[in-house]
Amino acid sequence: MIARELISWYRKNKRELPFRLNKDPYSVWVSEIMAQQTRIETMLPYYSRWMKQFPDIKTCAEADENDILKAWEGLGYYRRAKMLWAGAKLVVADYGGIFPSIYDDIIKIPGIGDYTAAAISSIAFDQPVAAVDGNVLRVVSRLMMSERDVSKDVTKKYVAQILEEWMAGSDPSDFTQGLMELGALVCKVPTPECEKCPISKYCLSFANNNQSSFPVKSASKKPVQESYIVHIVIEKGYLLVSKDWSDGLMEGYLRLPQVDADSQHFDIIEALSIHKHVFSHKIWSLSVVKSSIRKGVELSSFWKWIPLEEVDKQPWISAHRKILQRYLKKSDFTSL
Ligand code: SF4
Repeated sequence: MIARELISWYRKNKRELPFRLNKDPYSVWVSEIMAQQTRIETMLPYYSRWMKQFPDIKTCAEADENDILKAWEGLGYYRRAKMLWAGAKLVVADYGGIFPSIYDDIIKIPGIGDYTAAAISSIAFDQPVAAVDGNVLRVVSRLMMSERDVSKDVTKKYVAQILEEWMAGSDPSDFTQGLMELGALVCKVPTPECEKCPISKYCLSFANNNQSSFPVKSASKKPVQESYIVHIVIEKGYLLVSKDWSDGLMEGYLRLPQVDADSQHFDIIEALSIHKHVFSHKIWSLSVVKSSIRKGVELSSFWKWIPLEEVDKQPWISAHRKILQRYLKKSDFTSL
């Protein structure tokens, strides 16, 4: 019953999104990866540009790494781009560029976990496999007044089992998308719009007027605060850049030299500003300074000079792209 009413509501109320135009698994894959940790409105322009630049798996697999990273620049969680690229290469190498249709094969593709494999299986291949993300956990927790901690894997497995019972015999693609759409448009954080909900008559938390008590989630860890000095060094039309990815963040994206204390490599000419950049697990406080290389010191092997006219063509980590946009005037970088 829930499935029938949910699907009927979805078919009448779904947003017209570009990745819903057909059931192409590559489109579903790209959209699901881009939508992780990212609002749909934010990812849509990236999705459109990506599909124009890399319209199919083969084009994506054969693309240059710099082009892949540049297309993702500003979307965050950059590892997703590299994994998508690696996944496309595997699909070309192992399946001749045809996306596999079986869940057990899909989940072996780099960057595809339980949720994405289930989403692709159900949306693109109509398999009755439940895709359980934060939206879905919230809807089911409220429906059932479930006290189970949604941050635990065992809860996700439990919810997946329930959903697979509910979706049996229905249209798996529309059921999965309907549940996602209900979570995004109606059963929202923090306040659901229950008067618009097609399944409110089945909802225990609605009946008990305690929707805001669900889902139950253990407290997440506070983000760690880190402070750095970011040096802008320009010499003879060249900018000093860093390829030091030893912190494991955003490998492949250029940075400005960023050090955690005053460095023997630089003489600071001028303090410019302080920027804050927030990740899910840490916060960077960045003191931006204009500097020159101290006489007689050797540059770190991570640091390279690039011509100023190349700056805009390179993929940059977002925190430093914002700094460059603020301080490097488009045609006259030496004005600093
Ligand atoms: S009735 Fe309200 S709380 Fe229950 S599932 Fe629908 S929107 Fe969510």
